[in-house]
Amino acid sequence: MTSTQFTIIFIAALAITTLTKLWLARRHLSHIATHRSAVPDAFRENIDLENHQKAADYTSTKTRFAIWGGLFDVALLLAFTLGGGIQFFADLSNTGFDTPILQGMATIVAVMMLSSVLESPFNLYRTFVIEARFGFNKMTLGLYFKDAFKGQLVGALLGIPLLLGVLWLMDRMGEYWWLYVWLVWMAFNLLLLFIYPTYIAPLFNKFTPMQDEEMKARIGSLLQRCGFTSSGLFVMDGSKRSAHGNAYFTGFGKSKRIVFFDTLLERLSGSEIEAVLAHELGHFKHRHVVKRIATTFAMSLGFLWLLGQLMQTSWFYQGLGVSTPSTALALLLFFMVMPVFSFLLQPLMSAYSRKHEFEADAYAAKQTASSDLVNALVKLYQDNASTLTPDPLYSRFYDSHPPAAIRIAHLQAQ
Ligand SMILES: [Zn+2]
Repeated sequence: MTSTQFTIIFIAALAITTLTKLWLARRHLSHIATHRSAVPDAFRENIDLENHQKAADYTSTKTRFAIWGGLFDVALLLAFTLGGGIQFFADLSNTGFDTPILQGMATIVAVMMLSSVLESPFNLYRTFVIEARFGFNKMTLGLYFKDAFKGQLVGALLGIPLLLGVLWLMDRMGEYWWLYVWLVWMAFNLLLLFIYPTYIAPLFNKFTPMQDEEMKARIGSLLQRCGFTSSGLFVMDGSKRSAHGNAYFTGFGKSKRIVFFDTLLERLSGSEIEAVLAHELGHFKHRHVVKRIATTFAMSLGFLWLLGQLMQTSWFYQGLGVSTPSTALALLLFFMVMPVFSFLLQPLMSAYSRKHEFEADAYAAKQTASSDLVNALVKLYQDNASTLTPDPLYSRFYDSHPPAAIRIAHLQAQ
């Protein structure tokens, strides 16, 4: 392949991906607009027109904003690759540092920092304009910047040693470097799973052991019924940042923690909380977490192998606007450009995730009354202003959870 041919393939894939995203967003917007005037039959008793329309407007606003964000990302990607942005930083790093590993790391860090600075106006607008307009944002500007600073710091402390290790392995381990990098990548991710709940999450939120004795007894008996042990029930101060509610599990083995957002506990009744927790237990019972991790690891092995092949060619670099090939630049280009090609896998990933959600729902319906989960979901849809009428194709592409109407119909059938 020549570099011109690869440039053409890259531009064609970028055009296909971008046009598909725009087309799906347009369908979604028009579907929501068409169904804005009436609450769908299945929800007529529980959700009033005002809330239905709020959800429609919130979803449309987010979808429209995502279109602009997506177009900005395309422009940024083109500027970094064909526009010579990466080459510019590589040249700069090569004059500033002596060894290839430091040069490579400096280029990658510079490109990542610039991207995150350029994207920050979008995040600010999303939080302080869109989320605020619909009454969800609870964050102050001070907290936002504090979060950003801490996030960058944690990212650098964990990311820079990892990156140095990966670049070193790529340079020293010969033909099979990708196998070594893959092992390090797996170890790093497993380590994160262990340290996240106890060391990283508390940097951002406060976790207090649940105090409500009645609720604890209720959850205790559900856990026992389902054969679970957990090292603790915690309440997280999610309301510090957002009015959106959630519940989740973290950790592995005996160190499993169950975390409830305070916003969720405030809104749901005892039996509804139990149903939501039973759904989460369903994910564990069906080993969804382990399956997802295994899938991700298998895919990353495939991607690393592919990178190993691409970095030996010259068309891969030159076709993407880089004239000084190096391991670090191959790594950087690969991870910037890969989403353009892997976007069409999105519907598969989403379908896989929705299958898990159905399984977890079915599990919850066996352990608790399915009407409790239905009621909890209706409250959550309403509180989160999730649209009840997504475009079916848009939903198939992106949604990790089944659309409201289908999900509830499944539960009611059980
Ligand atoms: Zn779930």
